[in-house]
Amino acid sequence: MIDPFGRHISYLRVSVTDRCDLRCVYCMAEDMTFLPKSEVLTLEELERLCGTFIDLGVRKLRLTGGEPLVRKNVMSLVRGLGSRIGSGLDELTLTTNGTQLTKYADELAAAGVRRINVSIDTLDAAAFKAATRWGELDKVLDGVFAAKAAGLHVKINAVALKGLNEHEFDRMLAWCGEHGFDLCLIETMPLGEISEDRTDQFLPLSLVRARLKQNWTLTESSHTTGGPARYYDVAETGTRLGFITPMTHNFCESCNRVRLTCTGTLYMCLGQEDAADLRAPLRDPALGEEGLRAAIADAIARKPKGHDFVIDRRRSAPAVARHMSVTGG
Ligand code: SAM
Repeated sequence: MIDPFGRHISYLRVSVTDRCDLRCVYCMAEDMTFLPKSEVLTLEELERLCGTFIDLGVRKLRLTGGEPLVRKNVMSLVRGLGSRIGSGLDELTLTTNGTQLTKYADELAAAGVRRINVSIDTLDAAAFKAATRWGELDKVLDGVFAAKAAGLHVKINAVALKGLNEHEFDRMLAWCGEHGFDLCLIETMPLGEISEDRTDQFLPLSLVRARLKQNWTLTESSHTTGGPARYYDVAETGTRLGFITPMTHNFCESCNRVRLTCTGTLYMCLGQEDAADLRAPLRDPALGEEGLRAAIADAIARKPKGHDFVIDRRRSAPAVARHMSVTGG
């Protein structure tokens, strides 16, 4: 699959549910309305759709959400997709908040998952509870260590937020180094209405990197995981530190991914509204596999050049109305 700007699309991110067991303040409103079950693709439908993408050239697949591990029977999807590793698919990964990892880490590893991203914005239990509205840090850390014990390579993702974790990155980097985890910091993006003002939360990572460089030896690394992060090797820990900077420096020119929601809607860009409905062709027996492939090809032909996120006090509405939990972070 090649888009109009000559970019090869080889990475599919799949939000398997819009539901989550946490309510991170920058991600969701507290009183979210979730999709009725009738709107959501079955796991079998998701697997078939992912299979079509793999046949069309997708080599890397990431399950996300909402929280992927709260979807009932999600492991049947993981096992099904895992069976494609080596026959079309190079990698199956997962982004999770970690609350269910003690339960699923071994099964994930057995299904062929090798790496996972766990989102932890702070290592302070009280701040964690405040940021997630009701999360228990200890439960998540137990999950992280269960993943490590199962042989999964863990990367910790943290959204950089003023007033939440801006003075904690040294501690988080040290903790990650101690346990052999890479750390990736992410700029907050204007997706969906939340109860707080994003201008108050936004922390440019250029500033964070400059501060970290005073205490750590950071050397630019050519390491890539096929995502948008730019990595540095951390001499003191032997681990890596990544930065995802959609606000201060986007990498749209090398974008290789599209995003599928649990309703079968395909977003060609995280930061644009245009989308393609794949549920109708998926469910239309008259169209068959060819019809589904044609719908995907039409969508790829509309992939926009990039997003134009702005976080600005003069602009009160978010750049994109849907929350990150819809498209899958
Ligand atoms: N529940 C899973 C998790 O917590 O990793 C997967 C879904 S979550 C939406 C994926 C990632 O998106 C998390 O790391 C989360 O912190 C991040 N995220 C959510 N809203 C965001 C926003 N507005 N800007 C930047 N990152 C955001």
